[in-house]
This record gives sequence, C-alpha cells and structure tokens, in this order.
Amino acid sequence: MKRIKPTPFVETLYATQPVFPNLDEFTIYLKQIWKNKYLTNNGPMHEMFKKNLREVLAVENIELFTNGHLSLEIALKTLDITGEVITTPFTFASTTQAIINVGATPVFCDIEEGSYNIDVSKIEALITPKTEAIMAVHVFGCPCDVQKIEAIAKKNNLKVIYDAAHAFGVKVDGKDISLYGDTSMFSFHATKVFHTIEGGALVFKDGELANKMKALKNFGIDDAGDINYVGTNAKMNEIQAAMGLSLLPNIEEIIKRRGIIWDYYYNSFISNKKLKLLNVQGIENYNYAYFTIVFETKEIRDRLFDAASEYNIVLRKYFYPLCNDFNSNNFNSAETPIAKSISDCILSLPLSSDMKLSDAQKVVEILEYELECGE
Ligand SMILES: *Cc1c(COP(=O)(O)O)cnc(C)c1O
Repeated sequence: MKRIKPTPFVETLYATQPVFPNLDEFTIYLKQIWKNKYLTNNGPMHEMFKKNLREVLAVENIELFTNGHLSLEIALKTLDITGEVITTPFTFASTTQAIINVGATPVFCDIEEGSYNIDVSKIEALITPKTEAIMAVHVFGCPCDVQKIEAIAKKNNLKVIYDAAHAFGVKVDGKDISLYGDTSMFSFHATKVFHTIEGGALVFKDGELANKMKALKNFGIDDAGDINYVGTNAKMNEIQAAMGLSLLPNIEEIIKRRGIIWDYYYNSFISNKKLKLLNVQGIENYNYAYFTIVFETKEIRDRLFDAASEYNIVLRKYFYPLCNDFNSNNFNSAETPIAKSISDCILSLPLSSDMKLSDAQKVVEILEYELECGE
C-alpha cells in the first residue's frame, strides 16, 4: 500500500506545553495574596502549599525552593557532599552541574538498556575512598532500583540523593517515590507534569535537616538571625505557591489526560520491532512524563528529528548530548557506552495534558510515513 505524504501541522506542535489552571481558581489565590501583602519569604501561600503537598504525597519532611536545580544544590550542601558522587550521564544538565557547582566531582556510571536508569550492577566498581554519595535520576519517571541502591549505600556508607524531577506522583511499593534515599528532588518547572511556573522541592528522611535547608535557601540565615552557612537565594515565592495550589487538586486528571496520549503512542509503535519503547508496565502510578522512542541508528534519529520540523513538529533529543559529552568539562562518554548509544538514538515525542488525541494521531501518521518512505 502506498502511503500518502501527510500535511504539516498548521500551528507548531511543541514537545511540551505547560498545563494552566482554571484562571478563576488561580485568581482566588491571587486575591488572597493581594490581601495578605506577602509576596515571598515563607508567606501564607507557601505554607499552605507545603501542607497540601505533604498530604497529597503522604510525606513527612518537605521543603520548597524556587526551582529544582537549586533544590539539588542545596540537597548536596545540606548533606555536606564535596567528594565524588556516582551519577548518571543520561540526564538533564542540571544533575551534573549541581554536583560540579557545589565543588564535588561527578563520577559517571553507565545506564541500563531497559529503563535508561543508572545500572546498579556497575556502581560498586566506581566506589573509591573519596566517594560520598550516589545521585541517581528516575529518568522519564521510571523508578531506579531503589532497594539495590539503598543496599549499596548502606554497605559503603554513602548518601543517596534522587533527582526525581520527572517522577512526581510515582510510587514504589505503595510509598511515594520521594521517600527513598536521604533526599529526593522534585522539579516544578513549567514543562514538568506538575508545576509552579518555576519551582522545586526536597523530600528528606531526617527531619533535623529542615533548618539547614531553610537557612541555605535564604543566605544561610537561621530562625534566630544567625548565619552559620554560606547559602544562596532559593526561596519559592507566593505566586509560585499559588500556581501549585491551583494545579494540585487536578493532578490526577492531568496525569490521566497525559496517559491517553501516551497509550495512543505506545499502541501505535509497539508492533514495530525496529523501535525501542520505554517499558512502564508494573510501575505504580506512572505519571506519563515523557514518551520516548529509541531508533536503530543515530542517522535515523537525526533524519526524523529534521523531518518532523518540516511538519511543524518540535521533537526533543532528550537526553543528547550526554552529560559526559559536554564541552564545558573533560569527561569521557566512551566510559558509558550504553548511555552513549541510547543518547544518540533517542527522541521524545510531543506530550502534554492539553494535547488533542487527533494531534497525537497526526504525529504517529507523520513519523510512520517518514520511517517508511522518507529519505
Ligand atoms: C527539569 C530537571 C531538572 C531541573 O529542574 P528545574 O526546576 O528546571 O531547575 C533537574 N533534573 C532533571 C532530570 C530535570 O528534568
């Protein structure tokens, strides 16, 4: 059967599109802010959002920050990490840069073929007397092998920090994913499943760390006004918290709508044996953060990326380049061959909670056409 070349999208279809709350509901919070005369520094919205998040996630200890990246840096500083940190190169630049910015040294561990997460069987070989922590990422919302990582950390006296930027709402053995490790970071950036425009949070095991985290995000100033740490400014403001408060009640609906698009993509591509899809079966409360395809070669990936833009579709080479291929540093991606091969061949498809199923159908039609007939 000869395929007919599909027509381009009239309006550009982006890889992600932020979810917006109902404007009237958001306005109710804004009116409260105008009345409170509080814009930042742990105001009433911040406190209410923190309380609601704690309940929704069923976690004990949580602190809010102005973005996910500074949350990660503060996680490392709170735990006094300055030595070597075993981490994954297959992540957003933030993970690696947080380690470098606090003066610690990233040591890159290869990833698994199936989940694209850090390969726990390769961690121990990288441990040296300087190793202080493991910073793993739940890539695309798929949980790392948290039990194995915990066992390795315990045996070798290491801290565990999770970059859970993609994993909001996901559970492992009935518990929120952020309850694993010493601390977990959520990003509430506009492009994430749940957001506060910009924003982030740390969930942490040891409640005693709260005061240090609070001080670090406010120039090191503690409740008594003393300055015991060199901190930064990483506070979440009231408008950010209001955005979070307006979106939080809709999180199940948001994830459900993403799931409809995700399932459509999955069912469309799963029978094509030349494509590798992320297997999310068995994940509790998967949040459909990303839909990715790994193609057979880099040439095919790059050709489809370019072809898509001619149809006004913006795909993402997520994550490419690898963090150990950045020009800014002298790392060696040849040490992590699986991460390298996946990074070279992966694309992330448009996915957002407001995306129309008909748009997903058109994306599939275009990609199938280009895979079969494009040159
Ligand atoms: C988005 C993201 C971050 C950084 O979060 P921001 O809120 O944008 O600062 C860190 N790690 C990963 C894996 C991310 O996707």
